[in-house]
Amino acid sequence: MTHEAISTVVTEVACPLCGHACDDLSVDTAGAALAVVAHGCDRATSGFARLGAGSNVATPRIAGRAATLDEACAEAARLLAASAQPAFGGMALDVSGARGAMELVDRAGGVIDHMNNEFGWRASRVIQDGGGINTTLAEVKNRADLILLVGTDAVSAQPRFFERCVWVEETMFDLQPASRRIVYLGGGLDTQPGHSPDGRAPDVFDFDLSRMPEALSVLNALAAQQPVAGDAPLGIALARWQELAEALLGAKYSVIVWTGPAFEVSQLDLNVGAIVSLVRRLNVTTRCNSLPLAGNDGDLSMGAVHTWQTGYPMRTSYASGAPKFDPLHNGIDRLLATGEADALVWLSSLNDLQSPPATGVPTIVIAPPSLKLASEPQVFIPVATPGMHHTGHFVRTDKVVTLPLQALRRSALPAAGDVAVAIANRLKEVQS
Ligand code: SF4
Repeated sequence: MTHEAISTVVTEVACPLCGHACDDLSVDTAGAALAVVAHGCDRATSGFARLGAGSNVATPRIAGRAATLDEACAEAARLLAASAQPAFGGMALDVSGARGAMELVDRAGGVIDHMNNEFGWRASRVIQDGGGINTTLAEVKNRADLILLVGTDAVSAQPRFFERCVWVEETMFDLQPASRRIVYLGGGLDTQPGHSPDGRAPDVFDFDLSRMPEALSVLNALAAQQPVAGDAPLGIALARWQELAEALLGAKYSVIVWTGPAFEVSQLDLNVGAIVSLVRRLNVTTRCNSLPLAGNDGDLSMGAVHTWQTGYPMRTSYASGAPKFDPLHNGIDRLLATGEADALVWLSSLNDLQSPPATGVPTIVIAPPSLKLASEPQVFIPVATPGMHHTGHFVRTDKVVTLPLQALRRSALPAAGDVAVAIANRLKEVQS
């Protein structure tokens, strides 16, 4: 294993390990692992250590045997040429990785989906139908006087949310950050980060998260000044619900924070629709915005590239030679379960914790060497990680900022996007 010769701490490092995309980390590149020495959360500390360590020793494999990169790309192209409908999943990539992936999916005539897309496409469909008003992290930091967290504690998805957006030193306007009101809707959440710096506890509406549709119905009705039956909806005194609705109506700039994976899949459309409706209602008389926490595993980076290039979200098929978006048909779990997909390509340079699904079809994995595999794929190509071994770009949760990622240490491993393009070129040769 090669260790860097000179100890160097790099500052103002952007982190691609969740959609918050913090840009203030300090990382020591001297040791065997990349060490986050300032401003990192636990996820960043462990992620930089894992993904940034020991990459130079990994080699590609074909059926478990060591191979050259060229041999592995040729074998991947051969498998794809023999496939009638390959599925492309994972897709935890930065922008350049996503561009390479698009070239390969298009060339292979495959179907593309993201590991987080079970939530993403459902939420997008609701917004398509009813519109939505979202805010940015900067607006939350500078303006939010009431933050309502719906079914999420925020920190499970994006660990530094409160540190970077809520309990800050100062804001651009006359809002005192410590005076913000924090309200959690739902039980079983980590509410400790919602305590203000002076020790004020947040409000917690504690109920089973599966009852979120009822809770949002109560709030929507009260915000519309409609009657609600019973004196304790979900076991919580009606007076508390009424007070919360009045506080939302009286706030200058409230923000409703939510994240798709926090909801039961079967309730996601209902909950997102109710949030959109509540935001719309409150904006009749005051300002209220929604803040979906997304961008984890590069889902917004991959989604942005896909939309730039095709005009459609993922869950799109290229089998006919033109993109065909069908979120119900093109979920790759479904395609693999029904046998409609006969090969799987798993691309992931940012996530080494989620393994590709176990399938009986030929599988090509393009991922960091630290990825734990349930079984050996036909082809495994280890790749570098953007923001650690090579430069890149990463779309933040609010989609208004695409952060540049730094190369912190050299790696002999290729970038995922370059591997995808190399396989696409090989495939072109096989097909011609
Ligand atoms: S909150 Fe997210 S972006 Fe920020 S340091 Fe932690 S993992 Fe990285």
